[in-house]
Amino acid sequence: MDFATLKTFISNDMKMSHIYQPFLIRSLLDADGSATVRSLAQMLLVLDESQIAYYEKILKSMPLKVLRGHGVLARNGELVTLATDKLTIEQKAVLRRLCEERIQRFIESRGLAVWDHRMANRELVPDSIRYRVLKAANGKCVLCGVSAADARLHVDHIIPRSQGGSNDIENLQCLCEACNLGKSNKDDTDFRPNSVEDKLP
Ligand SMILES: [Zn+2]
Repeated sequence: MDFATLKTFISNDMKMSHIYQPFLIRSLLDADGSATVRSLAQMLLVLDESQIAYYEKILKSMPLKVLRGHGVLARNGELVTLATDKLTIEQKAVLRRLCEERIQRFIESRGLAVWDHRMANRELVPDSIRYRVLKAANGKCVLCGVSAADARLHVDHIIPRSQGGSNDIENLQCLCEACNLGKSNKDDTDFRPNSVEDKLP
């Protein structure tokens, strides 16, 4: 694709149901052309106001209070300060390593449950989104083609919610009950023939 075509695509042809497409193109431009899916996801996280606000709330409600109670840190409005004498670079390295060890040991013992409290709080797929997913699939399972008249249809999360998958339409597909139950939650195969967006009116 040449520059002019891409320019026209971005300005006029890109149909958006979220910020993901322009975000992805912009991120790849910033990354000088290519980046791993993981690093793109990490860049997206930085933009996610809901996630940032969520963690601000967590920090203020729990660890900030506890650590202040122990005299480890001080807080002045939005500014948080470690309440220590000036540390040498060696002392910082020792403390940093100890924190890292405690984090890793905790993740090792709890696994995904470290983050599951947040996933459990996710709201269900709203009816309006559910309708759009079913409509985009013409009321048929995108895997086996069975129709709503013959089977119960589910709105399936392509990336499972237990792995951080969202309720955004890009992460949803229409599967019949049998296909959905056959798909384990370790499987994130996207069975849709085209993107949902292409089929939306
Ligand atoms: Zn099916």
